Amino acid sequence: MTRFPLYEVMELNARFKGASPEAVLTYAAETFGERLTFACSLGLEDVVVFDLLSKLPEPPRIFFLDTGRLHQETYDTLAALRERYGLPVETYFPRHEAVEDFVNGYGPNAFYESLELRKSCCAIRKLEPLARALTGADAWITGLRSDQAATRAGLERFELDNAHGGILKINPLADWSLEQTWAHVRAHQVPYNKLHDQGFPSIGCAPCTRAIAPGEDIRAGRWWWESPEHKECGLHVKIAQETR
Ligand code: SF4
Repeated sequence: MTRFPLYEVMELNARFKGASPEAVLTYAAETFGERLTFACSLGLEDVVVFDLLSKLPEPPRIFFLDTGRLHQETYDTLAALRERYGLPVETYFPRHEAVEDFVNGYGPNAFYESLELRKSCCAIRKLEPLARALTGADAWITGLRSDQAATRAGLERFELDNAHGGILKINPLADWSLEQTWAHVRAHQVPYNKLHDQGFPSIGCAPCTRAIAPGEDIRAGRWWWESPEHKECGLHVKIAQETR
């Protein structure tokens, strides 16, 4: 794992300002090779990135975090992507001892009871598997867009990921709109989660995701019982960047 200097991150953002996601991904694949990986959440943006990566001569390793609490439609999306593109997808599960301790100690629906318990559940089912999946990586790709949530405003294409040892985090769709994302899915007939057609613009675990009403914020259906500034599972937290 190589710590990426902050000034290089700033240079990359300047160099790729206005560049296409394809240009960003081509640069990433050529630069990092086997040390590049894509965290595929199977959301709408992630199936777009999946499609774009499939067109590279040597796509990076792709992984998926199975929390054990997902919708059947999410598994159907994974199956459809595997069939369409024939790319391997590594699935990471939580440590079963940690899940057993948590559920036995706090119950199957503990995440509704307090922010602390919800964050503990996310830590066990998402953060620990993510850390394992990123082991050995120097850079990882996400499908994040800046207008998805208040917590993602100002998102840049390249970020320093201090939560994972200062590796590079690459968000090729950072400045895309939801309309651009849908346009790509439709134009290229990319398989997507059918829950998106049922009022679910953002999809996570089944007990923590619900459909939204027209006009509601697109993240309103995620952890709807919490205030907007808490609506992250910790996969994409920002830790203050250090100048190096
Ligand atoms: S989104 Fe909900 S069920 Fe999924 S890991 Fe977080 S708290 Fe647990």
